[in-house]
Amino acid sequence: MSQRVNPELKEDLLKYGVKDWNDCFHCGTCTATCNLTDESFAFPRKEIKYLQMGLKNKVAQSVEPWLCYYCGDCSEQCLREAEPGELMMSLRRYLMSLYDWTGISGLFYRNKLVYILSFFIVGIAIMLVAFSTKYDINEWKSTFEFGHLLEQLFVAGVALFIILPSVFRMYWFAIVKDKTIKVSFIAYITSLWELFLHSVTQKNILKCSNSTFTWFRHWIVAVSYIVMLVMVVVFDWFQFADGSGAGAIIGQIIAYLVFGLLTIFSGIMIIKRISKKEEQYKFSELSDWFFPIWLFLLALTATLSFLTRQLGIVNVAQLIFILHIIIIAQWALLIVPFTKWAHILYRPFGIYFACLKKSSKPVK
Ligand code: SF4
Ligand code: SF4
Repeated sequence: MSQRVNPELKEDLLKYGVKDWNDCFHCGTCTATCNLTDESFAFPRKEIKYLQMGLKNKVAQSVEPWLCYYCGDCSEQCLREAEPGELMMSLRRYLMSLYDWTGISGLFYRNKLVYILSFFIVGIAIMLVAFSTKYDINEWKSTFEFGHLLEQLFVAGVALFIILPSVFRMYWFAIVKDKTIKVSFIAYITSLWELFLHSVTQKNILKCSNSTFTWFRHWIVAVSYIVMLVMVVVFDWFQFADGSGAGAIIGQIIAYLVFGLLTIFSGIMIIKRISKKEEQYKFSELSDWFFPIWLFLLALTATLSFLTRQLGIVNVAQLIFILHIIIIAQWALLIVPFTKWAHILYRPFGIYFACLKKSSKPVK
């Protein structure tokens, strides 16, 4: 099938943080260096070829950017300093903007001012809602009930209206629009194991060089985040602060553990971005900063409001909790569906779709 050449693709992609890929002279060192490539998925060189030829459809159908964990091995080896690792990162941003039906993701990546303003708008909106609902902001129990209700609404709304359609659109671009392959029904079922395995373990990071701590950090953050999500959605987790039974004590231990780990590890991510010593932290787009900073603030405000509530300093707990809800709202409505967080979701699906492509039959 012929692929449409898009001369504007280069201009489009530059807005997503990509460097000029014409520095690349196709030596293939990056692909040879990458431990995550194989004969079916020869990235990052193949992606650079698509970009140089302006093959927008090929880029849209590719799952390779999701197979890359941005270890930076390829960038270190590139003689032309073409930064292939950062190019894969930029392609992930670009693909996310294609998957997002609202167009907000692309808008945030292309226009930093809009991105920053949206944080102010969400923050002000939450404060207006907080002070105008039937909930009495001066009565501490209603403040926490109000916050818990908002948390549940954010999670359910974003999952239903943004995340699920985005994953479907990813499938649409990667599999349905790729007319060169035919995927059998049985492959959809048997490859589900890979989706589960990589969602839970992120084990492919371990194939990159010197990656054990990176893997450990990713894994701890992902597990802590999932536990936090379950506590927020399923339980009114702040109720644990008041109880004294066995259930409440277990809840308190889990809350401190999870929020403590998220605070420490998001703090490490911020320090690494500031130091720029590692290849994957050399280039930071605005959303790359917002992700660890908001995760850090989210975990820190949760810990402090929980602690102050337990200590009976209710007024302080209430104030920190309102700040926490503003941060959660910005996190859940802006960062999770439209920027960096969505990688956590798309990556295992990228691996799943790669398995489908590998097991497919070519269409003649
Ligand atoms: S990005 Fe660098 S290492 Fe990769 S093919 Fe181009 S020049 Fe070679
Ligand atoms: S950054 Fe690492 S995982 Fe990504 S393409 Fe380069 S070598 Fe492979």
